[in-house]
Amino acid sequence: MNEKQFKALKSLLSQPKNIVIIGHKNPDGDAIGATLGLSLFLKNRGHHTQVICPNDFPNFLKWMPDCDSIITYDSQKEQSIEKIEEAHIIFTLDFNSLSRIGLLKDPLEKVTAPFVMIDHHQEPDDYATFIYSDTGMSSTCQMVYHFIELFDGISEITPKIATNLYTGIMTDTGSFRFPSTTAITHRVIADLIDKGAENTTIHQNIYDTNNPNRIKLLGIALKNLTVLPEYHTAYITLSKEELQENNFKKGDTEGFVNYGLSLTGIKFAAIFIESIKENIVKISFRSKGDFSVNDFSKNHFYGGGHLNAAGGRSDKPLKQTVSNFISILSHYKKDLDNAL
Ligand code: 5GP
Ligand code: MN
Repeated sequence: MNEKQFKALKSLLSQPKNIVIIGHKNPDGDAIGATLGLSLFLKNRGHHTQVICPNDFPNFLKWMPDCDSIITYDSQKEQSIEKIEEAHIIFTLDFNSLSRIGLLKDPLEKVTAPFVMIDHHQEPDDYATFIYSDTGMSSTCQMVYHFIELFDGISEITPKIATNLYTGIMTDTGSFRFPSTTAITHRVIADLIDKGAENTTIHQNIYDTNNPNRIKLLGIALKNLTVLPEYHTAYITLSKEELQENNFKKGDTEGFVNYGLSLTGIKFAAIFIESIKENIVKISFRSKGDFSVNDFSKNHFYGGGHLNAAGGRSDKPLKQTVSNFISILSHYKKDLDNAL
């Protein structure tokens, strides 16, 4: 966003507006924290806001302040369309392409209201009038903090806003350990604690709400973990049957992929999860160093994301997806050997 655009957006936001704020499909802590944090900030400035997500978010996020106000397009279609049609401004948060919001793309493509993108994913599309994109940022929640800063609103950050933003920064940085975590990230976090984010409670709400089914599923995932030392790679599979036998709920497999990456010498980890609802395999890729999982996923698995964390999918059966993956890996042996 250049100076001229910033001024234009500032002037747009100087009067109360109807504002719709959109997060991506299968929203995570960053998408929920950023949309709710921004929504609460704008609401306190006199705007009418509505957060809309394409589908539901996992139970482990259902304590986040004001999360009951979110509507989901897949179960509240008419209400979502009405809000979108009434909107003067549409914010899209934590995604870089309208292909990341599933069917919610359809009503959004029909509106004339300007879009504001706030996002940290690589290679953003240019559907938005106002683009605040920074791939070096830890999280969209950190960007919402800087956005609020840009609009001279730091003193307006309430405990609820602080809690939402803290949560997204924490979840997207793997609790402040991924390389995107900078000194500025820590300063933002410190300020959010000053503004009322209760760090210990937030950590407990996110990480200490395991249920026995999830732990059993983790056991199966770890049993299925396969290490390919020649490629510095480890991968996990979970079949539809394994998920169903353990009463799988959205969010239960969150973080499983990181176990592969925790092994000594492993630079690339993947998890392949057969979808129960769709005829696809959902994939998460993680890496260490300069091996780009954004490129890997974009080139082979219809996905993308960040340098060290990306999602993707395959429409082949699970076994075939994994054997394809292994044969693709052979082309990356040098890159993986040399990745630092
Ligand atoms: P996850 O593996 O947790 O689903 O995704 C890892 C990261 O990549 C997240 O930041 C997520 O938003 C992003 N991501 C997941 N799937 C896609 C995709 O298909 N395209 C793009 N551009 N990003 C994705
Ligand atoms: Mn994010």
